[in-house]
Amino acid sequence: MGKILVPGGAGYIGSHTVAELLNGGFEVVVADNLETGHKQAVHPGAKLYIGDIRDRAFLNGIFETESIDAVIHFAAYSLVGESMTDPLKYYDNNVGGTRNLLEAMIAYGVTKIVFSSSASVYGEPESIPIYETDPVHPTNTYGATKLTMEQMLSWTRIAYGVSYISMRYFNACGAHPDGCIGEDHRPETHLIPLILQAANGVRPEIQIFGSDYDTKDGTCIRDYIHVCDLAAAHELALRHLLNGGESEIINLGNGVGFSVLEIIKAAEDVLGRTIPSVSANRRAGDPARLVASGEKAGMLLNWSPEYTDIREIIQTAWRWHSTHPEGFKVT
Ligand code: UDP
Repeated sequence: MGKILVPGGAGYIGSHTVAELLNGGFEVVVADNLETGHKQAVHPGAKLYIGDIRDRAFLNGIFETESIDAVIHFAAYSLVGESMTDPLKYYDNNVGGTRNLLEAMIAYGVTKIVFSSSASVYGEPESIPIYETDPVHPTNTYGATKLTMEQMLSWTRIAYGVSYISMRYFNACGAHPDGCIGEDHRPETHLIPLILQAANGVRPEIQIFGSDYDTKDGTCIRDYIHVCDLAAAHELALRHLLNGGESEIINLGNGVGFSVLEIIKAAEDVLGRTIPSVSANRRAGDPARLVASGEKAGMLLNWSPEYTDIREIIQTAWRWHSTHPEGFKVT
């Protein structure tokens, strides 16, 4: 089938994709510095190299030892707030790390890469749903680095023939249905894990960031997509490239928007209890609405999400959070 290098394979979306690839018959080599990823999240069927993609000797060692056919690249910092207070940290790791990875790939003749991009490249959208051809105006450093990384791939394709698929994720959420891996960011900043932590007493309450947006109930609308659906899309994108397919940029979402209040209500329905919440100020840089058009992913990759019921998505997340209230325990 092929041997796939997955930088960032110990992270949230990376670890779910590693499990999906192994299930699909691929050999998987994970490269992760474990700064934000977790060793326990890496499937035992994958080979783990602990190190940093900014370290060229580390990457050379992997490419020399393993016969890599393609790369799925997740290794990046992803905290929007931190990206605004420490932008150069994001340029160094996200942009610098990707440049280093691409240089190593080219040196060892590896020419296919699936890249973890983000809906944050769109910034405040002009219309909903968002198409891949819509303008890109990131409103935070994190999104700006993802856009720069996409552009780096595009120029690298022209110069060196590296083919790529950039996946622009909307709001990744949920956990593997087997309950062994799930979301564990430190600090946690994402809505669904924070709601579930408020539900199981890890936090006193969930703060609702802004109740005066121009939306149906005043709270922000997002497109929540299950992490296993994202993982499946990565495998399809990989197969597309391995079969000689063209380079593409693809949105990954459910195509449906839920407000913050609707997500809290759905979580209350799933858990059968009230979850404490308080109104808080808007969070800087939050667009009112982000909803994907999934047309291109459907047409090009024949991908459609399996998890279309937000309650079922929250149920999988709850299974993880209720059995792992402290996430992956530090060993
Ligand atoms: N949000 C919130 N309270 C929180 C965390 C998030 O109200 O404690 C809102 C946030 O303003 C956004 C939505 O939930 O509208 C999803 O935020 P998240 O950080 O999960 O993902 P993002 O959309 O920023 O990628």
